[in-house]
Amino acid sequence: MTDPRRDLPSVNALLESASLMPLLQRAPRAVVVEAIRVAIDDARREPGGAPAGDDAWARRVETVMNTHLQPSLRAVFNATGVILHTNLGRAPLAEAAVRAIQDTAAGYSNLEYDIDRGERGSRYVHAVALLRELTGAADAIVVNNCAAGLVLALNTLARGREVLVSRGELIEIGGRFRVPEIMAKSGARLVEVGSTNRTHTSDYAAAMSDRVAAIVKVHRSNFAVAGFVAEASVGELASLARDRQVPVLHDLGSGLLVSLERYGLPGEPTARDSIAAGASLVFMSGDKLLGGPQAGIVAGDPALIARLRSNPLARALRVDKLTLAALQATLALYRDPETVVRSVPVLAMLTAPVVAVRARADAVAARLRGHGIEVAVVDSTASVGGGAFPAARIASVALSITGDAVGVEARLRMGQPPIVGRIADGAVLLDLRSVAAAQDAAFGDALARALS
Ligand SMILES: *Cc1c(COP(=O)(O)O)cnc(C)c1O
Repeated sequence: MTDPRRDLPSVNALLESASLMPLLQRAPRAVVVEAIRVAIDDARREPGGAPAGDDAWARRVETVMNTHLQPSLRAVFNATGVILHTNLGRAPLAEAAVRAIQDTAAGYSNLEYDIDRGERGSRYVHAVALLRELTGAADAIVVNNCAAGLVLALNTLARGREVLVSRGELIEIGGRFRVPEIMAKSGARLVEVGSTNRTHTSDYAAAMSDRVAAIVKVHRSNFAVAGFVAEASVGELASLARDRQVPVLHDLGSGLLVSLERYGLPGEPTARDSIAAGASLVFMSGDKLLGGPQAGIVAGDPALIARLRSNPLARALRVDKLTLAALQATLALYRDPETVVRSVPVLAMLTAPVVAVRARADAVAARLRGHGIEVAVVDSTASVGGGAFPAARIASVALSITGDAVGVEARLRMGQPPIVGRIADGAVLLDLRSVAAAQDAAFGDALARALS
């Protein structure tokens, strides 16, 4: 019996082979050597699977090398129909935000430098004027994300003391992140009031004592409650809290800055609504409905914000210059409430008329049929995601590919770039609402490549 493993070439023999020359021109020698090692190891583990001849070896090594050279984090097409998909990076940025990142990234900036005075400044001034303008709050601070904002505020205002929160608002918001656990990390002691479905202002009043440092209201993300339910409004909590001189902290989660009611998405409070109703501080994410970079925005009472700013923990939760650049540019787009629903991609995707989505789907389908690929255009339902408008179902349109749905889904996912869709009723559905309209041609090409 012959042992096919004895026939494996050496690393050096392959390195010197003419067939591998093009690879050495494409990548550093060390990368090619590593890919050759892996290819030989694979062949050894799988007797009989060794490539025959130098050209076949070169192709095998190239495949390994391409996988190794590929960055782990890369762009994908989100065809799930979930606009704020946390697993897919939440909000795609506006063009203006991308330009701002580019301008700030390549050189120096006045991140912590006061240009007018020619002296040291503070990174916390950036974006604050815009946030005041857009929320009606008197001051604001930007940190790493919304969860960080909550921890910072509770640690500053309530460490070692009590915080009142409704039982109906002790929620998990995805990625096993539970609001009560993150709040407990701040050193504040949570005191649950009310019941899962009903909490009244009187429940908060009954729990009030000298030990209470704040009332927290958490916007319910990811789910809706219906039926026999009651909750205390921010306004009611604010008047109770004013009497007792404790702040009301409102975790909005999403960071809606303009009402989307006239686009069929009612019921999500804006930051301005919450401030106007009397919240002392509001908390929001930069990369949910606001449509900007990952960030946590805390806006509200200037005396409280000043205390947050001087907590040493703020240093550990601070935001970087690229985030500030992108956030500032995104916020500036909100100055024009008419154009913002087109210039901020998340808002554009949420508010696009379904006829426009259908026209795009038809065009991509026609492109695919030109490549001999059979697809149907079907009605679909998109959703907001990211813990906002949990009950909203947005009319949408998808490409439907029938046949071996599991196989097709995998081929699309492993494509270049990857396309993430969903399987429903034995078909792969690719919802166009979560694909940027400007990317339709690239999306169609990627589909054609993956499917042909
Ligand atoms: C999403 C969410 C958070 C966390 O926001 P991050 O920016 O991801 O930290 C906190 N609270 C609520 C209600 C949320 O929906």
